[in-house]
Amino acid sequence: MLNIALFGPPGAGKGTQAEDLIDKHRLFHISTGDLLRKELKEETPLGLEAKEIIASGGLVPDEIIVQIIEKTITENPQAGGFLFDGFPRTYIQAYILEGLMIKLNTSLHCLISLEVPEEESVQRLLDRGKTSGRSDDNETVIRNRLREYREKTLPVLNFYRERGICHEIDGTGTVEDVRGRIQRVVSEELSKRLLNVVLFGYPGSGRGSLGMALAAKHGLEFIATGRMLAEEIRKDTETGRRVRELYENGQLVPDEIVVPLIEAKLRQRNGNGVKGYIFKGFPRTLVQSYILDGLLRKHDSAINTVLEIEVPTLELITRLEARSKTDRCMPYDSELPKIVRRLEEHENKTIPVIRKYEKLHGVTPIDGRGSLEEVSERVSNVIENAFKEMR
Ligand code: AMP
Repeated sequence: MLNIALFGPPGAGKGTQAEDLIDKHRLFHISTGDLLRKELKEETPLGLEAKEIIASGGLVPDEIIVQIIEKTITENPQAGGFLFDGFPRTYIQAYILEGLMIKLNTSLHCLISLEVPEEESVQRLLDRGKTSGRSDDNETVIRNRLREYREKTLPVLNFYRERGICHEIDGTGTVEDVRGRIQRVVSEELSKRLLNVVLFGYPGSGRGSLGMALAAKHGLEFIATGRMLAEEIRKDTETGRRVRELYENGQLVPDEIVVPLIEAKLRQRNGNGVKGYIFKGFPRTLVQSYILDGLLRKHDSAINTVLEIEVPTLELITRLEARSKTDRCMPYDSELPKIVRRLEEHENKTIPVIRKYEKLHGVTPIDGRGSLEEVSERVSNVIENAFKEMR
């Protein structure tokens, strides 16, 4: 989700700039001014209560604002993000917004304040008044609205400065000039986003080599639980010794071992400028799919792209059997019965996860036949598109 608030005095150009942002980033536009005018037009009890206040240029009570905002947000749960325009306008509304965002398991990502000198605001509003048909676009009311802004709204910036998401930009110049400045702030915010790819496929479908090549190419980190466990065994850590014992007895590694390893990887993220992750071998059960959602959410992130590498079964067995005779052989696929068990395990436990993702995110099938370069190219195109979608 991308949630942005446009802030600034009346006449700063919030509505004009909002149009471009909602189109470009598919945001749901919430303008409290528009919502109030709609209530007013429909002569609802809320509209009638706000009528006099709006006409005089004062601020409508927070109790009314919270009702219209909450209603609009809950009626649009499918929104990919919200653009708030003219809200929050008081300290209380800033707290309200924070609460509403927490309820949706997200947060406000940036508040963009358009700075325009007071006299320029007045002039712009007087010009707008010639065509807007808004009764509050006349000089006396405009002056009142600007006073309310100075006294009650401007201090709200401190709330966001403290949270490190306040961006004050020059709101003068042409619409395009201001748009460019806003776009720079939004692009910077988006560049912090993680792209999370889940790579599915039967054992032997080439996920390991593919994942490594693609991670290097796209600046992503490859999280392959099998490799992480092998690394623990190689380093002979306490976890490694437990895992070796489980492998030798033909048992599965429990989530209690795998999950902390993934959690530790995700925690390192901030230090190394990684753009996202490619997950392989996790989630392999429905339970693990819930765990991954939770782990990503902790980083205000989520799964973006799910891929399934498709290779015919006979070719899988041929590939795995050939590998078992090389030094790349894993302890769990050293002989045919073990290989068959792993394929069955995927069929029974992991295919249901893919079915679940099909409904939630869509799963892109990738033809896994051919050389590593050919398959990489197919996956790369999907990843590049996913990056474009995100930005
Ligand atoms: P706007 O269209 O944003 O300029 O808003 C027009 C008028 O609606 C304002 O002058 C206020 O009277 C009222 N209003 C809009 N949004 C809010 C808000 N968040 N809090 C209080 N009053 C608001």
